[in-house]
Amino acid sequence: MSVNFLISQAKIIQKVIDANASEIEKLDQNIGDGDHIFNVQRGLKLVVELESTIKDLPLSKALNMIAMKVLSGIGGSSGALFGTFFMSMAKTSNLEEVNFSKACEMIISGINAMKDRGKADVGEKTMMDVLIPVSQKLNEIKNENIDKNQGLKEVIKIAEERMLLTKDMLATKGRASFLGERAKGHIDPGARSSQLIIETICKSVINE
Ligand code: ADP
Ligand code: MG
Repeated sequence: MSVNFLISQAKIIQKVIDANASEIEKLDQNIGDGDHIFNVQRGLKLVVELESTIKDLPLSKALNMIAMKVLSGIGGSSGALFGTFFMSMAKTSNLEEVNFSKACEMIISGINAMKDRGKADVGEKTMMDVLIPVSQKLNEIKNENIDKNQGLKEVIKIAEERMLLTKDMLATKGRASFLGERAKGHIDPGARSSQLIIETICKSVINE
């Protein structure tokens, strides 16, 4: 992982999110307040706009700047959660040389920090329903020396399965929790956007 990788990923993710924008917007209109797609698109735009400021910085400084931008520039639950993700990645030690295993470690620590911040676990109909199982799989890939491409294909599958599972859940965190039974039958918007982001990154790394 490098600053260059972060920026190029943000640009690719932007395209995928834009291509799925109306679906994500509808999902948050169903069980939230409709702004989730706007928050995600704004976050990505802010990161891409940082390119010239961060491109020559050490990775930890660049991650910190991204975290600050995201925390101050995006509203909603997702701003705080994504900001926390980058902040925690920036705090990882020894960022001079980030190989695949180290990148997994950083992402796992970022997701753990989001879990602490939002206090949502698996089964509460949030983006954590996708991200926690993804982080568990990354941990397995890292610790058991599973083939990188094979492992990442499994990550893509897990993210999709877990995103779909949010459809029939009751929400116990976030705005959707106010709806009670009426939240059932709708996929969580944060789970869908997170799944698309995970899938996009995994595909890029598989093709590297
Ligand atoms: P808001 O809910 O404040 O309008 P967004 O619309 O940007 O913020 O994001 C909504 C998404 O945030 C939800 O679909 C859900 O996935 C996620 N979310 C809400 N509350 C939490 C939480 N406590 N922990 C993790 N994710 C959460
Ligand atoms: Mg919302």
